[in-house]
Amino acid sequence: MTERFPISTVLGYPRIGPDRELKRALEGYWSGRLDRAALDETGRRLRADTWRRLHELGLAGLPSNTFSLYDHVLDAAVAVDAIPDRFRDAPDPYFAMARGTDDVPALRMTKWFDTNYHYIVPEIGPRTRFRAVADKPLAELREARALGHETRPVLLGPVTFLQDHLHRLDDLLDAYAEILQALHAAGVEWVQLDEPVLVVDGGAPAVRHAYRRLAALERRPKLLVASYFGNADEALPALAVAPVEGVAVDLTHGVPANLKLFEGRTIVGGVVSGRNVWRSDQDTARALLAAAGATSVSTSCSLLHVPYTLRGEPGLPAGLVSRLAFAEEKVAEVVALAELGPKPGPLPERPRTTAGTSTESRSPYAIRVAAQADLNLPLLPVTTIGSFPQTAEIRRARVQLPTAEYDARIAAEIDRVVDEQEALGLDVLVHGEPERNDMVQYFAEHLDGFAVTRNGWVQSYGSRCTRPPILHADVARPAPITVRWAKYAQSRTAKPVKGMLTGPVTIVAWSFVRPDRPLREVTMQVADAVREEVRDLEAAGIRIIQVDEPALRELLPLRREEQAAYLAWAVAAYRRATSGAADATQIHTHLCYSDAPSVLAAIDALDADVTSIEAARSGLGLKPTNDALARGVGPGVYDIHSPRIPGVDEVVKRLRGALEVIPAGRLWVNPDCGLKTRTYDEVRAALANVVAAAHKLRESVQ
Ligand code: GLN
Ligand code: ZN
Repeated sequence: MTERFPISTVLGYPRIGPDRELKRALEGYWSGRLDRAALDETGRRLRADTWRRLHELGLAGLPSNTFSLYDHVLDAAVAVDAIPDRFRDAPDPYFAMARGTDDVPALRMTKWFDTNYHYIVPEIGPRTRFRAVADKPLAELREARALGHETRPVLLGPVTFLQDHLHRLDDLLDAYAEILQALHAAGVEWVQLDEPVLVVDGGAPAVRHAYRRLAALERRPKLLVASYFGNADEALPALAVAPVEGVAVDLTHGVPANLKLFEGRTIVGGVVSGRNVWRSDQDTARALLAAAGATSVSTSCSLLHVPYTLRGEPGLPAGLVSRLAFAEEKVAEVVALAELGPKPGPLPERPRTTAGTSTESRSPYAIRVAAQADLNLPLLPVTTIGSFPQTAEIRRARVQLPTAEYDARIAAEIDRVVDEQEALGLDVLVHGEPERNDMVQYFAEHLDGFAVTRNGWVQSYGSRCTRPPILHADVARPAPITVRWAKYAQSRTAKPVKGMLTGPVTIVAWSFVRPDRPLREVTMQVADAVREEVRDLEAAGIRIIQVDEPALRELLPLRREEQAAYLAWAVAAYRRATSGAADATQIHTHLCYSDAPSVLAAIDALDADVTSIEAARSGLGLKPTNDALARGVGPGVYDIHSPRIPGVDEVVKRLRGALEVIPAGRLWVNPDCGLKTRTYDEVRAALANVVAAAHKLRESVQ
């Protein structure tokens, strides 16, 4: 056995496959076209390819158990047998938890810290009996060995796993102890325990307790505790009191002063960012390693959040390619830095977010309401969030048809979407977004300053991937983007058609953004482009314009002390995008979430005339005193994430609940989110009930 931790490693690697092989295998398996053996064979091949590639690139320490068929948090739940009873009898409990079955809805899914990756939230109740089930880490360990690789199993740490259920920590630690001992018995030297919770406020006491206990075990592997997505300074003293052998720190967020408490132990310096696609500056990286006293070099976090390789991107401009690094290229950077070693030098200045952005305003709400009266909307107006079902045929047309035929196809689809809404009796119509592959990518393709990749897929959840655009230069809007189809849709109906734009914060959140300018500044440039689009939509006769900001919460800094400054500039960017609108133009916004109190305050500050939010699943957690209710509000009454059709009475009940906190004159009726993943049959049935419910209530409140 070697004494020291390897000089170079990565905390994790993409797993969807360089050509999304896992996506195809999963979807084949779910549809019954592939059997389980074929799915497992795809997984085995992807793992083997990853280890071989990392080894070829010269990486010294290879991780294992970073592969997942769906989600690594779900894998962690399985490893401690935290499987709710109702899933145990399903033919495939793992995918039943991930995706639900006809009888049982799936476990909840939410965003992984401040990333755009979604994980399955383990369901932990008083009856959850933790038990070690180390099959997967052991199997991957053996699989790697059979290929000639000695690996470091990676486990999700117990504190991050439990999050809000820390009262069960001791029970859980019993199971973790057993897993660690099983790995030790299999000859494992190091285990990596991922604890991103170390960078969030308040994690310290549980971390101290957990790692004291785990480190006190007899016959265990050496423990490397990995923190990432921020600066772990605050929690490091709590970890340092436990005799763990090593710590991995994300140095892209600065060098924690408390790292000195780990002197003499393994310090893995995460200097190559796992969150962006930019090449690292070698001198800066070496200076960070020196300042941290790092003994090994790594990525800041798992490379899960970046695409596989630039080799699949011959279409990117050469001048840009030389500034980029995807996962493979980042591994090469780690290897090169480990060979060069640390070298003292100037450290990068910490980007300070100043809240100095001035916030632009429209006229007071009351004046706008008066100016919008001629829209003649009924009480409890019914609308949707924008997209209608994206049929496979439309997606095929996008890649296959020549422009003129494609345009005719889009026009025909808009006709259909308008007709459907007229027939259903909706009050504010949408064009359905059939021309958009994705609400961010579509805008990126039409703005200067963005590049789009051919194969730069990043896992969003399960088999779902996105291809984030690369925002690499100054942003400008060479021509109107959405006006043509909005205008066309409006020409087909006497009802108002809502123009549909993606907001500046969301465009930036779902792109890989140039690192050489403050995010705030880049977002303002995008806001200017959106502002021009708002003007052009108005000039084309569109009276209602929705600017979506579903990612507003996602960029919220993990540390509370940084949140206010972020919200200030995010709000300023939104208002820059929308404040050019005339009083008579009704501005809507949509957010997919409504549960963070700090975000609720920001909703008020956005000053939109109407805000639609998710509420069908989370319930309407709004209080009458909340300023977010001072203008129009549309709490979602139809959960579009599920095929379930809400009944009329159910919608009436939800609306009555909403009417307890929202005056009837300001309540809107709408689904939770866009309809693009649903079928027309589902949408028709659900919206018919939503309209019927609104009509029923209109009579009683008038
Ligand atoms: N307008 C978009 C749609 O309806 C909004 C999507 C979202 O909030 N993520 O699809
Ligand atoms: Zn949404």
